[in-house]
Amino acid sequence: MNVRVDIPSIKPLISDKLAKWLATPRPMLIDGKWTPAQSGKTFAVHDPATGEKISDGAEGDAADLALAVRAARRAFESGPWPSMTPSERGRIIHRLGDLVLEHADELATLEAIDNGKPKHVARAADVTLSADMFHYMSGWATKIEGKTISISGLAAPGIDFFSATRPEPIGVVGQIIPWNFPLLMAAWKLGPALATGCTIVLKVAEETPLSALRLGELVLEAGIPPGVVNIVPGFGETAGAALAAHPDVDKVAFTGSTEVGRLIVKASAGNLKKVSLELGGKSPNIVLADADLGLAIQGATAAVFFNHGQCCNAGSRLFVHRSIFNRVVEGVAAEAAKIKLGHGLDPTTEMGPLVSQVQYNRVTGLLASGHEQGAKAICGGSGAGGNGYFVPPTIFTNTNPSMRVVSEEIFGPVLVAAPFDEVDDALIAEANNSIYGLAAGVWSTNTAKAQAIAHRLRAGTVWVNCYHIFDAALPFGGYKQSGWGREMGQAVLSNYLETKAITTRLG
Ligand code: NAP
Ligand code: MG
Repeated sequence: MNVRVDIPSIKPLISDKLAKWLATPRPMLIDGKWTPAQSGKTFAVHDPATGEKISDGAEGDAADLALAVRAARRAFESGPWPSMTPSERGRIIHRLGDLVLEHADELATLEAIDNGKPKHVARAADVTLSADMFHYMSGWATKIEGKTISISGLAAPGIDFFSATRPEPIGVVGQIIPWNFPLLMAAWKLGPALATGCTIVLKVAEETPLSALRLGELVLEAGIPPGVVNIVPGFGETAGAALAAHPDVDKVAFTGSTEVGRLIVKASAGNLKKVSLELGGKSPNIVLADADLGLAIQGATAAVFFNHGQCCNAGSRLFVHRSIFNRVVEGVAAEAAKIKLGHGLDPTTEMGPLVSQVQYNRVTGLLASGHEQGAKAICGGSGAGGNGYFVPPTIFTNTNPSMRVVSEEIFGPVLVAAPFDEVDDALIAEANNSIYGLAAGVWSTNTAKAQAIAHRLRAGTVWVNCYHIFDAALPFGGYKQSGWGREMGQAVLSNYLETKAITTRLG
């Protein structure tokens, strides 16, 4: 199947104000000021639906990173931020959430033209969840508590002590984020770091810098003091690597590929900075014979095709009981056929392009490997052609675990589907047969049975009769090579806190 998608220029579809903003090369945020790269270099920002250049971003490198880290250090040691009360800090973070909502339309437009996702999806999902992350985390600023601990004091018999723990911000935090949810990943990272009182240098993906740079303007408008949030767009190999290796950064938080996650761990070894990682996935989605078929078919479709498959938690390996295998696969194919590809600013679009030529080449290369290794494409199977990076939804059957499409994270709209006969050890082993362990889905009307399966899946998140349900209050992260630590919820706070134990002699 070859669906050609040709998109006209988006210039007539954006407001004059936004067009003007885009026409100025976007500077980086260092110490509360918007500044060009010291090298003077910029990189072009493209609309992936048209291939058209829409703006330029300042290209940060090690020299800019060094300035940003210095500003963050100063803000951490002596600025107004460390002396602010938790309630003041909480109020400011809350205001940032409000500002995100006030600018929802503009932020969703930026996501649509920079990342390619439909604007209505960005508005409903990315922007809403980003604001909620700031609102949720604002509440934690006043709820960071230590505890008192009764100690035996064996080294000093007969003397009483009072011991307590005091959580303290970890310090200057380096954060590196990917392009699949540019605004939301910035919010996931900034929210908890701000709530715990850290200062931040955020390196945004060069593919999608725009929404985070606009967020940086809102950060200042909310009243976050200069140097607390520094935002540096730039390339991973230069800016990202310099941040991960910087000796004055206390902690690095990374979201992206498992391959780069390994580089981050190596780079962090110099000063043994703390590391948290949110990496790739190849998540199993299991449909039992007694599943509500309508729900399971829609769920399996959304699990893999939402955000064009560019989700670390995509339900990309579908396991269906043999008795309903054909019905479910045909059902998902029918749902996939209805998905309308187009420009993210077109309100009827349901799926935009992949983010870049590089991703298009990666995904179509993996599709070719699927054909070569004998998988059968029920729908899709190749790139769309045209001027953007469109790849229609693909479902492969006749697969086996040795195929690249089954074992590798594709990060595109590609599903592999396989039948199973029994809910037994072999099924669980097959579902767990991955270097990743980020997420999983189970579909059954027998919730006790589904719960028992959920317990046996080696994944940080399991959804039962639902998928992609994210919440600021729920921890998210990976087993195995899907990461270290958790994002969101109370759990994320420990990524940004040190624990100090203080013991006082009494008498
Ligand atoms: P990536 O290379 O891991 O990039 C993620 C972030 O890390 C970007 O900001 C990137 O910068 C930066 N980076 C790259 N090399 C670095 C280095 N040596 N040191 C420090 N930072 C570095 O991911 P990608 O190129 O965007 O996508 C490749 C694959 O990663 C995808 O196909 C997918 O499998 C996976 N991925 C996973 C997630 C997830 O949420 N878990 C998200 C995105 C991608 P630049 O891109 O600006 O150069
Ligand atoms: Mg990249």
